[in-house]
Amino acid sequence: MPISGGFYKVPEETVKIGGNAFQIFPHNARQWKAKVPDDKAAARFKRNMEKFKIDEDSAFCHSGYLINLASPKEDVWEKSLELLEKEIRICAALGIKYLNIHPGSHLGKGEDVGIDLIVKGLDEAFRRTKGTDVMILLENVAPKGNAIGYNFDQMKRIIEMSAFPERIGITYDTCHGFDAGFDIRNPDGVRKLLDEIDKSVGLDRLKMIHLNDSKYPLGAAKDRHESIGLGYIGREGFKNFLSFDEIRKIPWILETPGGNEEHAEDIKRVLEIIGE
Ligand SMILES: [Zn+2]
Repeated sequence: MPISGGFYKVPEETVKIGGNAFQIFPHNARQWKAKVPDDKAAARFKRNMEKFKIDEDSAFCHSGYLINLASPKEDVWEKSLELLEKEIRICAALGIKYLNIHPGSHLGKGEDVGIDLIVKGLDEAFRRTKGTDVMILLENVAPKGNAIGYNFDQMKRIIEMSAFPERIGITYDTCHGFDAGFDIRNPDGVRKLLDEIDKSVGLDRLKMIHLNDSKYPLGAAKDRHESIGLGYIGREGFKNFLSFDEIRKIPWILETPGGNEEHAEDIKRVLEIIGE
């Protein structure tokens, strides 16, 4: 959801398009700048969370695009840590429990180096924000370039190496997972995915689904989101995926093309699909 009208507008706008859960950027996602809202702005947002009945487990922040905790470039890593700390403070001020991040890209230095840097960055951010209980959600990404986080073994390593495992959860993005070869169009595929999550990081760490169709076929690693039902996962694919209890009890967030108008259409389609 856009925050251009102010944080307080988000719960109402969410309900207006037919939603009951939302994700926002805590600041302009393409800039290093971020500002923690003052008490008045935070209180106004919280009042509307109640007024429009958005559950506290259904509100998420998504970290800015510039952050790369796996960066071997020292200045980028430092700036990433500082912005991440700021984002955690924004979430805490707003009472938002979850901050979604892409784990990072090692820029050619290798997975081990990248994972070490991610853990170092996360732990320092957690140390600096002790006293808040904001949880970082590691999002699975498409297996593209030098990205880390396209399989659950990588997630598991990050969580196990961290000194704050209780503050780390995960997000499952259906487009990125499809890009990485998880075929959720049939029951066996979903079972396999859920087993893999459970055996690696534990299903209780799964806090959000990014519900996106894919413009490209299984395993394409392109990371191009499509509107629900119009891509290669397709209507029947989502019907299957969304029939699982483990998926039903977690909030679903759309990151499909377009703005509020298109998302209202997507929400309608999702409701049709689960109603069938
Ligand atoms: Zn996503």
